[in-house]
Parts: sequence; structure tokens; C-alpha cells
Amino acid sequence: MFRNFKMVSRVIFGQGCFRQLGDILQALRTLNGSFMVFMVDDVFNSSELVPKIPFDDGDLMLWVNVDKEPTTEYVDTLTDKVRSFSPNPPAGIIGIGGGSTMDLAKAVSLMVTNKGSSANYQGWDIVKNPGIYHAGIPTLSGTGAEVSRTTVLCGPDKKLGINSDHTVFDQIVLDPELILDAPAQQRFYTGMDCYIHCIESLSGTFLNAFSKSYGEKALQLCREVFIKDGPKRGLESEENLMMASYCGGMSIAYSQVGICHALSYGLSFVLGIHHGVGNCIAFNVLDEYYPEGVDEFRKMMDINQIQLPKNVAAEVETESLERMINVSLVLEPLWENALGKKWKAMMTRAKIKELYQRM
Ligand code: NAD
Ligand code: ZN
Repeated sequence: MFRNFKMVSRVIFGQGCFRQLGDILQALRTLNGSFMVFMVDDVFNSSELVPKIPFDDGDLMLWVNVDKEPTTEYVDTLTDKVRSFSPNPPAGIIGIGGGSTMDLAKAVSLMVTNKGSSANYQGWDIVKNPGIYHAGIPTLSGTGAEVSRTTVLCGPDKKLGINSDHTVFDQIVLDPELILDAPAQQRFYTGMDCYIHCIESLSGTFLNAFSKSYGEKALQLCREVFIKDGPKRGLESEENLMMASYCGGMSIAYSQVGICHALSYGLSFVLGIHHGVGNCIAFNVLDEYYPEGVDEFRKMMDINQIQLPKNVAAEVETESLERMINVSLVLEPLWENALGKKWKAMMTRAKIKELYQRM
């Protein structure tokens, strides 16, 4: 069976294109009393971005905090705020921020029209009703959350996305000006998420010409940004990074990620380590599986003067380690992509434990 996947309906790209958001949303403000919900990373509260947001009287502004990665509990709280704001559903939900904020916007858009807790929808194709119109506007590039059909959430017992066609954004606004001032270290970690998407997609058993085409382009752009440009920033570099993130996301949309992501989910769920840095920590011990990719990644770290946190999982107690292993093993398609159908014979709990203990 071939996957017939849904893509983002509309894309606007280019320096300063964020200024067109007001016009885009105006077309949706058709009904009397219709309103927008802006979900914006609270790092921008009182920044120069605020006056540029096309906020109208009657709209709802939700500043979201992503110090912790999104949880199902937080999604449920935000959904309640939207529901209690008006008896009518909003005309649109606009997420402005990194992968975490975009995921929160996707999840709230689904939960306004679907009953119960978002934790009930973690998995594949469980969501029944289409969500509210939702737009994603990245302020960090690399996760590919702007193009993916998932919103990754930490739930009561697992970190797992709400994967569905309804999750995909209706509109994305890719304005490199918005990522220009992201802190260098965060930009690197999130950028490496994209680099690792490419390596895992291109070396996976699910690879096909569709994924390969996007994966190779994204990889080439990552090399331009993190090897050729290095720490030197500028709009051209940000444009390339933005397109790398887009293409990397498109690549995994029709294949899958791999071992690094499976391990990184365990780090994030149990130790609260953010996705980008968690990926880097995990990737750094995967020479055995992705030798060339790991070498090049270390070269990128050198060029960009990045020091990875050390000994993050080496000394965690047995119970936490076991939970990390459990979380990573839930992600069966990732292991299968990396190692093939017989992955269970190769990737034992003892092997996963050994990998974690080297991080
Ligand atoms: P993030 O959204 O978690 O943000 C990281 C930090 O950077 C936060 O402190 C945030 O406030 C700050 N920040 C964001 N933009 C900034 C800017 N322009 N200037 C200054 N600070 C800024 O980071 P991320 O790496 O983009 O996203 C990681 C999240 O994305 C994780 O929760 C992960 O699970 C999720 N993810 C989702 C998908 C998907 O397909 N849906 C794919 C990969 C990762
Ligand atoms: Zn990722």
C-alpha cells in the first residue's frame, strides 16, 4: 500500500513575507465575530515582532512557554482557553515559534474539534474530525515541523506524535528574517535535527526516489550553512537553512527517521532534554550505524564551536534507564527503517542500554 499523504496547502517564502500574514488572514475573517488565535513563543513577548503580528480586536493572544517540550496536559489547558474564550470556534490558529510552538498550534487546532484529552490521540490516524484552519510560522529552522503530519507530544506514558492528515498546516509562512536572531547554539542544535533527518532518511530501508530527492537537497543545504558559512550568519544562510528544514521534512514525510531519533525521544521523555540537543547527544555515539554522518557532524560542531553536554545519561539510575529504553522501543517504524524488518534481533534492550550509557 502506498502512502497517499497530505501536504501543506499554501506556502509563502521570502525575506519580509511575514508582513503579508494580515492579508492572508483577512480572507478568513469572513463571519461576523470570527476571530484568530495567535499562539506565540513567549520568548518574543515585548520583542520587535509583537507590533508586526496582525492582531485584531477580538482576537486571542496565547503566549506559550516552551521551556519544557509540549505535553498533552499543556495542549489540553490551551485548548480549554480557546474554548472558553468564545462560544464559537476560532477562524484560525496561528503558531509563531520553533518546532515546539508550531506543534502546540497544530495540536490545539485538532483538539478544539475533537473530544477528550490530546493524550488519546497520540499515535497514527486516530484523529476523526478535521481541525481548525492552522498556520505555522517558524522562528527556528530544522525540525521540519512546518511540513510534517505530526505534532510531537509528551503524554502520561510516552513521547509520541499525533500523526494524521488533519495535523498538516493549511498555510506556512517562511520568512528568513524571523530566524536571523535565533541564538547560535539553539540554531545549531535545531539545524542538526534537519541534518540528522537527512542522514537517517538517506540511509534507511524505507528510502525511495521521492525521499532521496528532498533528502539530498536538504543535506547539500545543511553543508552550505554549517560547513561553508559556519558561524557566519546572514539572510542568505538563513534562507538556505529554512529550505533545508523544509526539504528535510519532506524527505522524512515519505520515509522515516531512525536510531538517533528513537534514542533521543527516550532522553527527552525521561530527562527532559530538548529534541535538537538530544539528537546531537545521541548521534554522537552512533558511529557504528552512521559512520560518515557522525564524522561530518563532528566537523560541523568544530567549525561552529559547539560543545555538547557530557555524561547526561551515563549515570542515570536503572529505573530511569529502563523507562528510556521503553520509550525508544515504542518507535517501531524508526527502528525498522534503520535496521530492516528483523531489527528486533539486532537492537536488544542490552544494546540500547549500552548506547545510552555512552551518552
Ligand atoms: P523549540 O521550539 O523547542 O525552541 C527552543 C528554544 O528556542 C526555546 O527556548 C524557544 O523559546 C527559543 N526560540 C525559538 N525561536 C527563537 C528565536 N527566533 N530567537 C530566540 N529564541 C528562540 O525548538 P525547536 O528545536 O525548533 O523544536 C523542538 C521541538 O520540535 C520538540 O518539541 C520536538 O519534539 C519538536 N519536533 C517536531 C517535529 C514535527 O514534525 N512536528 C519534528 C521534529 C521536532
Ligand atoms: Zn527530528
